[in-house]
Amino acid sequence: MDDMPSLIKLNSVVDRLILVYFDNMSALTPNAFGWPAVGEHRQQFIRQGLDDLQAQLSALKQHLVISDGEPETILPALCAKYEVTDIGMTCLDGVYETRQREQLIQNLGHINWHIDTKETLFDEHSLPMALADVDNTFTPWRKKIEGNVDVITPTAPPAHLKPSPEHIHAAALPDTSDGSIAKTWYGGERSGLAQLDYYFEETENLSHYKETRNGLMGWDFSSKLSAWLAAGMLSPRRVAYRIKNYEQHVVKNDSTYWLYFELLWREFFRLQLKKHGHLLFAAGGYKKHKPNNNFESDIYQAWCAGKTGCDIVDAGMRQLNATGFLSNRARQLCASFFIHELNQHWRYGAAYFEYMLIDYDVASNWGNWLYLAGGGSDPRGQRKFDIQAQTERYDPDRAYITHWLR
Ligand SMILES: Cc1cc2nc3c(=O)[nH]c(=O)nc-3n(C[C@H](O)[C@H](O)[C@H](O)COP(=O)(O)OP(=O)(O)OC[C@H]3O[C@@H](n4cnc5c(N)ncnc54)[C@H](O)[C@@H]3O)c2cc1C
Repeated sequence: MDDMPSLIKLNSVVDRLILVYFDNMSALTPNAFGWPAVGEHRQQFIRQGLDDLQAQLSALKQHLVISDGEPETILPALCAKYEVTDIGMTCLDGVYETRQREQLIQNLGHINWHIDTKETLFDEHSLPMALADVDNTFTPWRKKIEGNVDVITPTAPPAHLKPSPEHIHAAALPDTSDGSIAKTWYGGERSGLAQLDYYFEETENLSHYKETRNGLMGWDFSSKLSAWLAAGMLSPRRVAYRIKNYEQHVVKNDSTYWLYFELLWREFFRLQLKKHGHLLFAAGGYKKHKPNNNFESDIYQAWCAGKTGCDIVDAGMRQLNATGFLSNRARQLCASFFIHELNQHWRYGAAYFEYMLIDYDVASNWGNWLYLAGGGSDPRGQRKFDIQAQTERYDPDRAYITHWLR
C-alpha cells in the first residue's frame, strides 16, 4: 500500500471504506491473435499479490472484496447499497482502461472521484509540453525532462484505515508470503520491496547495473523489478526515490543514473500510449508506415515453441515459456528475428509476449515491438539485430543456449 495517494485521500474523507478488486475474467478468453491476454505466469503472480495485499489489510483490520463481475455493474450497485460518496482509484491510460474509466465517471456523476497516477514518475501537468507535443522519439523528450521536472514524491503507506461497513465479506485468501526475496518472481508488494532492498543496499548490484544490464542468464544482472512495477505492486516513484537515496548514501555513478534512465523509457512509452491511443496497436503504428502483413501459422507456432532452428532465439522463447521472463537483450533478439528474419507481422509476436510475460505492461510491450517493427519511436526507422554477432557478443561461451536447449 506504499505510494497510494488516492487511498490516503479517500481514507481521510470517509467514515467507512470498501476495498474492491475486480478480477478481469474477459482477459482469459482468446483475443484476435488467438491468445488470452493473461497467461499462467501472470495469473499466478497476481494471485500471490492479492494474498499479500489481503494479509497487509488484515493487519489494519480491513479486507479486500474480490469481484469477478464487471465494474460497470458492480460499482453502481455497491454505491446504491452503501450510499457511497467517494471512490478512489489508480489510473492506467490504456485505450480500454480510459474508455471504461470515463464511462464509470459519467454514469456515477454524483460521486467524488479521487484518481491518482501511481503508474507514472511525473504529473502530466508538470511536463514542459502538452501531451500532443510530446516528442515521438525518446532522446529529445528526455533532454527536455531531465533537470526540469521533479518525480512526484511517493506517499508512505497508511498507518490506519477506516473500517468497512458491516456484512461485507472478505475474499478468503491465506497469507502465503512473508515478503522475503526468493530470487524469483513472487507476487506482492512486500516481495517487490524486498527485491528493491536486495538489488540496492543488500548486494549493491545497482552500482554495476550499466555494465551488467545486457546479461542473459541469472538473477543479478538487472533489477528484475519489472513484474512488480507492471502489476502496480511497486511504485516507479519509490524506485526513483530509492535511487536518489542510494546516490546520497552509497554511490552515485553511471549505473545509478542508468536505472533511472530506464525508468524514463518506461515513462516515455506510457506517454506515447496516452498520446497515440489505438495507433500504438495499429498495423502501421503511429508513423502509419506500410506494414508487412505476412503471417504463416506454422512459422508462428515454431517461434512460439522455441523451435525455429536459431539457437539464441529458441533459447529465449523456451525461457519465456518456462518462466514468463526474458532479459531485455533476449526480448530484442526474439522480436527482431520474428519481424525481420522470419518476416512475420509484428502484432502476432507482441500478442504472444502479452500472453506469456509475467511483467506484461501494455505501453512497454507494444511500444517496444512497434519500435522494432518501424511504426513507432525508432528515429532510424526500424531496428534489425545481427543475430550471429549478438550471439557471439552476449553468449560467447553459449552458456545461455546450452542451458535452455539442453
Ligand atoms: C519486444 C520487447 C517487449 C517488452 N515488453 C515489456 C513489457 O511488457 N513490460 C515491461 O516492463 N518491459 C518490457 N520490455 C522492456 C524491458 O525488456 C523489460 O522492462 C526488462 O527486461 C525487465 O527486466 P528488469 O526489471 O530487470 O529491467 P531493468 O533493466 O532492471 O530496468 C529497470 C526497469 O526499467 C524499465 N525498463 C527497462 N527497459 C525498458 C524498456 N526498453 N522499455 C520500457 N521500460 C523499460 C522496466 O520497468 C524495468 O523494470 C520490453 C522490451 C522489448 C524489447
